[in-house]
Amino acid sequence: MIYSEEHKIVLQNIMHEGALHENRGKKLISKLFGHENTTQVLNEINAKLQPLYMIIKCINCEVTGQSYWVWASTVQDKTARFHPEFSQAELALLRNVYSEIVTSSNGHVSSTWCLNLCSTLNVKLTKANAEEFLYEMVNKKWLACKNGKYYMGVRSIVELLQYFKDTYQDSLHTCSLCKEVLFYGEKCDQCNTITHIHCLKNYAMTRGGLECPNCHYPISQHDHSNLLSLGNGTNSAMDEVDIEMDEVTQPSLRRSKRKRLI
Ligand SMILES: [Zn+2]
Ligand SMILES: [Zn+2]
Repeated sequence: MIYSEEHKIVLQNIMHEGALHENRGKKLISKLFGHENTTQVLNEINAKLQPLYMIIKCINCEVTGQSYWVWASTVQDKTARFHPEFSQAELALLRNVYSEIVTSSNGHVSSTWCLNLCSTLNVKLTKANAEEFLYEMVNKKWLACKNGKYYMGVRSIVELLQYFKDTYQDSLHTCSLCKEVLFYGEKCDQCNTITHIHCLKNYAMTRGGLECPNCHYPISQHDHSNLLSLGNGTNSAMDEVDIEMDEVTQPSLRRSKRKRLI
């Protein structure tokens, strides 16, 4: 294995983005290496990272199903490694949002609920600042946002998993197919089994229809726009990224002078 300058550039891009969209990663690798064997390149980078207790993990967003490459530590302990750039007030807000997402029955929390938190925090945070902070959390993939609701983002799932396990053992769910911890998914009306939407889509393709992987009860597509796009391979994934960004609630203070969060 030769760790080259090209590998370094890929790693730097992932570190810079925090969570790099797979399509951007593929483009970058194709440009730098002249091939699209992303697995090989990521394995080579991970071999280099291993002694440093770091790893690049591939993970699907629970809401959009989009795949991201996330850079994380392999040693996680009870102390959540929240980034030092967060203020006390922002941390308090974030912990409350996490707590509500994990303990809610549907895996998300409304933006109104988040903003109303401001008046209950021990530390002062204006609604405008909270809105701006949440917007950045979505941009940096710590949270995901769809139709005014916040969900767990890919970076939180990868980087704070041990914290969630230690803090909310009894409230955590596991996907019936991939067996990973799940914060948001499709619940079977019959047996209450929960499955990631992207896992369910892959499963449906092999089964020829949407059904619960556990009891095979049919899953209706009523209010699940994610499931409606099943088998629709016509949109390029990059278009979907743009759509995803449009869905993010725009804060009132768009152009902030705020420091960039890592
Ligand atoms: Zn799954
Ligand atoms: Zn079921």
